[in-house]
Amino acid sequence: MTAGRVFDPAGLDACIACGFCLPACPTYRLTGDEASSPRGRIALMRAIDDGTVDVFDAAARHQGSFCLGCRACEPACPAGVPYGRLLEQLRDAQWTGRRRPLLVRPLLAFAKRRRLIRLLGRLRRHARFTPPEPTPADGDTLLLGCFERVLYPGVSRAAADTLPGVRAAPDQGCCGALHAHNGDLARGERLAEQLADRPGRIVSTAGGCSAHLAAVAGRDRVLDYSEALLERGEVPGPVLVGGRPARIGLQESCHLRNALGVHEAPRVVLRRLGDYVEVPGAGDCCGAAGTYAILRPRDGRRVLAAKLAALADLDLDFLVVVNPGCQRQLTTAVRRAGLRTRVVHLAELVAAARDERR
Ligand code: SF4
Ligand code: SF4
Repeated sequence: MTAGRVFDPAGLDACIACGFCLPACPTYRLTGDEASSPRGRIALMRAIDDGTVDVFDAAARHQGSFCLGCRACEPACPAGVPYGRLLEQLRDAQWTGRRRPLLVRPLLAFAKRRRLIRLLGRLRRHARFTPPEPTPADGDTLLLGCFERVLYPGVSRAAADTLPGVRAAPDQGCCGALHAHNGDLARGERLAEQLADRPGRIVSTAGGCSAHLAAVAGRDRVLDYSEALLERGEVPGPVLVGGRPARIGLQESCHLRNALGVHEAPRVVLRRLGDYVEVPGAGDCCGAAGTYAILRPRDGRRVLAAKLAALADLDLDFLVVVNPGCQRQLTTAVRRAGLRTRVVHLAELVAAARDERR
């Protein structure tokens, strides 16, 4: 690897090595090791770019994979270092060809298969219920995330049902976040540009997709589901459990919070939906982190452990998520821990509240 070819120089140069980001970093908190902190990784990136360290060096590959990509270091940084972008560039250089993690390859291949995604999404929906056809309109487009469509089709359906005027076009493709975060930056950007060619704004129920689309298409083209809901003023409530308002907590999406700065809007919605309980560390990563929980399940569970203990103490009726990866990670963890708490997407709870009022 030739020196100076991997990272945006301005991004690396911005770091003043102050260390303010260290306490925010989950992998630094786990290890106490400077090398596993944002500042340590930026020092490593500089060494890669000046040719001192090979990009495929074992320690460099470990850090490229051990970092969650949660971007909690960005809001903590006074110098505006674009850490998420630097990590994407590191993986773009490291996770190429046969060096790409084996488990990531079928996921990227699946995300390319637009027809297959549509078909599986339909099969899953029909297995649960028969939804009405989406209402075409000229307004915002609902992003039907490629994995959400297959794993949690009820989320897309609930979002479409609770956002009047939104268009759920079934022919849309992947937004490219999966590619950008897993070593294929060029394809990730191309896919986002294709989606952004559609008129109007894009409404997303997945924080990771929102952040990637906003980085490529511009923040003004992207809305989180919670923002779109509040804009329309359509929040029903409350959800009742045993005749009382439900006790509801929130697990934030890292990218929604740290990259787009959306943290209050979901809470505003939840306060209307029931008895809102602040979960300690709600903004901390749950360890799902895109493909992280698949590639590094043990580390993903280590990151999750403190959150799970807090959830056991809170005894919530619902834990609300705003990203499908968090939904999968927390549904599994909560079930294994034997908690009675149900993990649901925000759109599903809004749809349930609306149905209660009918
Ligand atoms: S992205 Fe997350 S895990 Fe990676 S350096 Fe930043 S805070 Fe740490
Ligand atoms: S807070 Fe920002 S400037 Fe300071 S060490 Fe971390 S990345 Fe560098």
